[in-house]
Amino acid sequence: MSSTTTAWPDRVSRETIVEVASSLISIPSVSGNEKDVMDFVECWCEQRGISYIVTAKDPARPNVIAWVGDPENGPVIAMNGHLDTVPVSDASSWKAGPFEPVVSDDGKKLFGRGSSDMKSSVGVMLTMLELFRDADLDGALMAHVVSDEETSAVYGTLHVLEQIEAGLVPKPDYVFIGEGSQLKVRNAERGILGFDITFIGRASHTAVARMTGINALAKAAKGILALEGDIDKFHPSIGHPVISVNMIKAGVAHNVVPGEAKISVDRRLIPGETKESVTAEIVAMLDAVAADDPDFRYEIEVDPEGGFIPA
Ligand SMILES: [Zn+2]
Repeated sequence: MSSTTTAWPDRVSRETIVEVASSLISIPSVSGNEKDVMDFVECWCEQRGISYIVTAKDPARPNVIAWVGDPENGPVIAMNGHLDTVPVSDASSWKAGPFEPVVSDDGKKLFGRGSSDMKSSVGVMLTMLELFRDADLDGALMAHVVSDEETSAVYGTLHVLEQIEAGLVPKPDYVFIGEGSQLKVRNAERGILGFDITFIGRASHTAVARMTGINALAKAAKGILALEGDIDKFHPSIGHPVISVNMIKAGVAHNVVPGEAKISVDRRLIPGETKESVTAEIVAMLDAVAADDPDFRYEIEVDPEGGFIPA
């Protein structure tokens, strides 16, 4: 039995956290392929006598809900962490393989795909469950170890929320999300709103470009420059809103003036901003360009992928 005189923070084992995080990193789990890493978590809980259930919208993309204490007997604190990662873009630029966890020489960093986002964090959560397993808790400490955060969340946290609403997973009273935040506690998160903007010109042969053509790409360039830049608003927990033009599609041939150019814009919102307020802001920026250029025409599609998330 561990000494009851040792303060809880002193019982935290750094080595255990690194060990668990390293195990998670060594199991590839790019979004869509989370099954193996979730099997590991299940096994990890099983071996330590930690209660858990597996819940899945798609059996290939499960989520593990694990807890210590009794959720029926007091408040429930849930820690939420995802185990899916973004893909590896250039495996050859890694000194060790992306799925070979390496601790830096000074012992302060752990390298590997997903180490920061957010397998180390899940390593902490699992270690906390083990630490408090035999504690006399009023209520429960729970971990929502989820799939599908880097893509839609439909198979991950959104599915878990549905299960909570259906009464199949205990409703937490408090939730910590272990995403990287430069070790600051943040009580807000940016929202996401996408736009597709199509600039409309007039297609023509290059030879008569100056006479009959209106180059939609050139209009898009003006639009992009109007939109890209810092936004003069601020929220103390999450900073400034962000706007970024991330895709462009235009042109059909080397010798044809493009009649249309479409850009995709990713806008991150802060609390207080709404879909309507941000749309109005973007329209005003583009209309300011149009005021000086009678050939500047555009159509805007708000939230083309239906992925709007409020701040
Ligand atoms: Zn993340």
